[in-house]
Amino acid sequence: MSDNLNEINCPACHNKMTKIYIPELKINIDICLDGCGGIYFDNREMNRFDENKEDISHILEAIKDKKFIEADESETRVCPVCGHNMVKHFSSDKQEIEIDECYSCGGIFLDNKELGKIRAEYETEEERDKAVRDDILAVIGPELEGLKEYRPSILKSIFDSIFTKFASM
Ligand SMILES: [Zn+2]
Ligand SMILES: [Zn+2]
Repeated sequence: MSDNLNEINCPACHNKMTKIYIPELKINIDICLDGCGGIYFDNREMNRFDENKEDISHILEAIKDKKFIEADESETRVCPVCGHNMVKHFSSDKQEIEIDECYSCGGIFLDNKELGKIRAEYETEEERDKAVRDDILAVIGPELEGLKEYRPSILKSIFDSIFTKFASM
């Protein structure tokens, strides 16, 4: 799905979010500058920021010297773009950081400071990919070993679509 250009409200604290334009990527991301400091990424946008070597200077500049309110992280959040409930899950097999993802439009919401923590989890995209692949293979078992040849992003989308089907039943 493409970059959403409508004004949206923060799924955590409901304040209006501010669009920050990232010129290098020609996309906007939404940050809750007047509320909790959370960040909403449209589908796949987060992939451009979750690695240590990727540039988040525009984000850091935007949140610099801001004071943010506390958001209740246990609440179920509603996707500000498509209105579906977001699903909480860990950002990786390290199971340390819980993020909110919309399985309908692919949006992801991170609470304040979570982006930094996610970036610290893996050094490279390869490492992250390998962890995803190992995770998925652990679930599907050795009978489907052949799936190993698929790229982790494809495996993940297969799993996400199965999950979405079950979730909507
Ligand atoms: Zn907020
Ligand atoms: Zn959505």
